[in-house]
Amino acid sequence: MANGNDWKPETKTAQALGWIDERTRAVSPPLHLSSTYIRDPDNQYRSGYGYGRDDNPTFEQAEALLCELEGGAEAMLFASGMAAATAVFRALKPGDHVIAQEVMYWGLRHWLLEQGIGWGLDIEFLPTWDMDALAAAVRPGETKLVWIETPANPMWHIVDIERAAEIAHGAGARLAVDGTTATPVLSRPLDLGADLVMHSATKYLNGHSDIVAGALITRAADEVWAALRAQRHDGGAILGSFEAWLLLRGMRTLHLRVGAASANALTIARHFQGHPAISEVLYPGLQEHPGHEIARRQMQGGFGGMLSLRFAGGEAAAVQAAARVKLWKRATSLGGVESLIEHRASIEGPDTPVPGDLLRLSTGIEDAEDLIADLEAAMEA
Ligand code: PLP
Repeated sequence: MANGNDWKPETKTAQALGWIDERTRAVSPPLHLSSTYIRDPDNQYRSGYGYGRDDNPTFEQAEALLCELEGGAEAMLFASGMAAATAVFRALKPGDHVIAQEVMYWGLRHWLLEQGIGWGLDIEFLPTWDMDALAAAVRPGETKLVWIETPANPMWHIVDIERAAEIAHGAGARLAVDGTTATPVLSRPLDLGADLVMHSATKYLNGHSDIVAGALITRAADEVWAALRAQRHDGGAILGSFEAWLLLRGMRTLHLRVGAASANALTIARHFQGHPAISEVLYPGLQEHPGHEIARRQMQGGFGGMLSLRFAGGEAAAVQAAARVKLWKRATSLGGVESLIEHRASIEGPDTPVPGDLLRLSTGIEDAEDLIADLEAAMEA
C-alpha cells in the first residue's frame, strides 16, 4: 500500500497518481505553455524537452494516468479523437487489408470511406460483433488491422474483445479498440488481448464538454508504436497545453461520473422498456440486449451512460420528442456531466445504417427521475 502500487484505480485517479510539484509542493500541476526549451551548452537536450511538438510536461501526467488506467506500456495524447484514430490508419501502408465495423462512430467510418480508401487502404466493413463473420473475413498475412468499437455508436453493439483479439492475432493482424464509450473504468481492452486502445478524450475522460482531445494507449512500445509516435510528431496533431491540463482535471472525477451516468442510463433504459411510445430500447445493460452476456463478462461496474430509444411512431415522433425536451440538451457529442440527446440519422446523412426512428441519449449525472420526467413530457406533448 505504501508505494501506491496497490491503490485502486479510483484512488490513483482522484489524486492524478499522487503527483506533487517538487519545487512549490503544489497539489494541482502547473500549466506548461513553453513551445521551446533551452539547449545544453553542447547543444544536447538533457532535460528531455526540446520542442513543443510533443515535448510538454503538461501532457505527461495525463498520459501517465491514462496509461495506468488502461494497463498499457505507453500513452499519447492527440489534438482530437479523430487525430488519434486516423494516425493508426495513416501508419499503415497503401494496399494493407483492414477490417472496420459496419456500425461505428460515423465520423471515422466517413473518413475511412473518403480518405482511407482513397489513400489505398483495402478496407472491409463488417458486423464485427459476429465472430463467424470476422473469422471468415481475416486474411492471414494480409490483414494488418482489425478496428472495433464496443459498445458501438449508436446501436450499442457489443464486440467480444477477447475473441476478436484471438481472431486478429491468428491472422497476424493487430486489434485496436475504440474504448470511448466504455472508458477504462468499465473495460480494459488491453487486458483482454487488444494491442491498442483509442479514446475520444473529448467525452468521458474529460467529462465537462469543454475540450476536444484524443488518446492512444498501447500494450507494447514496439515498432508500430514508434510509427505512431512519428505520426504525431511529424503530423503535429498534438493537444494544446491548456486542453491537456483540463483533461487531467476532468479525469480526477472519472470514476464518480461514469458510475453515476451508468446508473442513470440503466434506470432510464428499464423505465422505457415496454413503454407505448418506444418500440425498442438499445442498451447493453438490459438482459434482452443480444450482447448482454458478453458485456457482463468484459465490462465491470456498469454498462456505460449511452443508450438509444427507437420510437414506435417512427422518425417524426423521434424528431418531435428531441425538439420538445427541456432538461436534456439537443446537442452532438457524449460523455459530459449534462445529458445530451440527438437524432443521429439526420446528422449522418442518407447512407447511414442508423434507423430514422432512433434518438441517441448520453446520460449525464443529473437526477434520473428528472431526466425521465423530461422525456415523458416530450413524448406526451
Ligand atoms: N470515437 C467515438 C466513439 C466518438 O463518439 C467520437 C466523437 O464523437 C470520436 C471517436 C471522435 O472523437 P473527436 O470528436 O474527439 O475527434
